[in-house]
Amino acid sequence: MSGLPKTGIVAVIGAGAMGSGIAQVAAQAGHGVLLYDAMEGAAEKGRSGILAGLDKLVAKGKLPAQERDALAARITVAPSLDALAGAGLVVEAIVERLEVKRQVFAALEQIVTPDSILASNTSSLSITAIAAGLKHPERVAGLHFFNPAPVMKLVEIVAGLASDRAVLDTLFATAEAWGKVPVHATSTPGFIVNRVARPFYAEGLRLLEESAADVATLDAVMREAGGFRMGPFELMDLIGHDVNFAVTSSVFQSYFCDPRYRPSLTQQELVAAGWLGRKSGRGFYDYT
Ligand code: NAD
Repeated sequence: MSGLPKTGIVAVIGAGAMGSGIAQVAAQAGHGVLLYDAMEGAAEKGRSGILAGLDKLVAKGKLPAQERDALAARITVAPSLDALAGAGLVVEAIVERLEVKRQVFAALEQIVTPDSILASNTSSLSITAIAAGLKHPERVAGLHFFNPAPVMKLVEIVAGLASDRAVLDTLFATAEAWGKVPVHATSTPGFIVNRVARPFYAEGLRLLEESAADVATLDAVMREAGGFRMGPFELMDLIGHDVNFAVTSSVFQSYFCDPRYRPSLTQQELVAAGWLGRKSGRGFYDYT
């Protein structure tokens, strides 16, 4: 089983928290990376964010300056989707909305070469549905990293109904070559981790809504007594409430409105206010 050739170009669509992290991981593994974002200036901002993170590592003596420069040279901002034509692997990490992802994959299909693999970093949406309607749904699969992608080892390799086994094997081997710990999953709502994690957020939010304790106390209890690295509220602030709420809503809808997965009104209000967590400076906690 072999992964993407080291000389293969990796394209990343969406230069937010996840896309930037994935671009860094691929560049660290030696690939040339094309980073594209539909929002003006976002890809440049994503690239600068990666370089600022690498500068910190250099300052701490954890990364030789030469390596930082080589890595920086491997990440290029792509001016348009068309510029991704030469990529052997495209990883989509845009907004968690099925119809938007489907539009991007339909456009991509017209641009990339027939042997290019198209992967989605979706947290919860059906890979089968993302691939449906394409001429070649067999080359589409989930490649689901966790936040922050350069740090977190686990990667879910998600099979849609039409995904080709060889494509899944290549993604598995590629993730291993990138120093990750891949696991195969199928396209069930939320896959493995985001399914199992739903009650962690939902019960935390319910406890808060029932005034059982405040946010800081609930987080501290889960960290100290529960043994979790982060409590539910600090973790939701890290993930982004827009993303976390979209994932819960998608899992809820996919399980035919099973009340176990009902989204929280409190979180809906945070999204409406634009209090998205760390990325907007305010969520359950204040980061300004
Ligand atoms: P984000 O909001 O930080 O970034 C998304 C980026 O996509 C933005 O820069 C936006 O401009 C861009 N974008 C939106 N629509 C686009 C389009 N049509 N074409 C090109 N670019 C477009 O979001 P994120 O947290 O990086 O999440 C991205 C994806 O990764 C989502 O599918 C999410 O579910 C998934 N994911 C998120 C996390 C997390 O913890 N945040 C973890 C794993 C997976």
